Amino acid sequence: MDIIKKTSYQCGKCHKVYVDENMANNCCEPYHCNVCGKETPRYVLVCEQCREKREYNKAQKMTLQEWEEKFPNHMIYYNDKFYGDIYEMLDDIDFDYNEFPAYCWGTDEVAMEVDPDNVLEGIVENTSCEDLDFSDEAYKEFKNIISYWNDKYRQHYYMQSDIIVLIPEELKKEYIS
Ligand SMILES: [Zn+2]
Ligand SMILES: [Zn+2]
Repeated sequence: MDIIKKTSYQCGKCHKVYVDENMANNCCEPYHCNVCGKETPRYVLVCEQCREKREYNKAQKMTLQEWEEKFPNHMIYYNDKFYGDIYEMLDDIDFDYNEFPAYCWGTDEVAMEVDPDNVLEGIVENTSCEDLDFSDEAYKEFKNIISYWNDKYRQHYYMQSDIIVLIPEELKKEYIS
């Protein structure tokens, strides 16, 4: 067995050891935002404000009215929480400590239902018997049964979408006195 001598580098501040000299040099150096240059927490390359601004610019924007017409009954998403509508959201914010938000996020509705093909293919894949398969007739009938079940028991949940819903200025008066 050949052995090779390796050099290692140690950070002078926290004493962590690295093989790469550059990494040791940067170990306890402060991190900075790529966009605005502000100091950021360790390993964070874009600061919170710049990330938010970037997401805002990229997103499709809608007025509250447009949103409600296009996606009635969809939940909205704000500050890691889902709300039934804008009023429920605003009621939940403590304006003694928080600013009135300029926007929130829309959501996509996702259906939770059984995929009949997946079920039968799963059974076939899990068997050790190679030639075993269901007939076309069996697939067809199973699909009909499952589609009946899906119609009856399908559930929906919501996920943050890439649409920004702009909160009308007028609402501010109702919440901030
Ligand atoms: Zn260090
Ligand atoms: Zn920044």
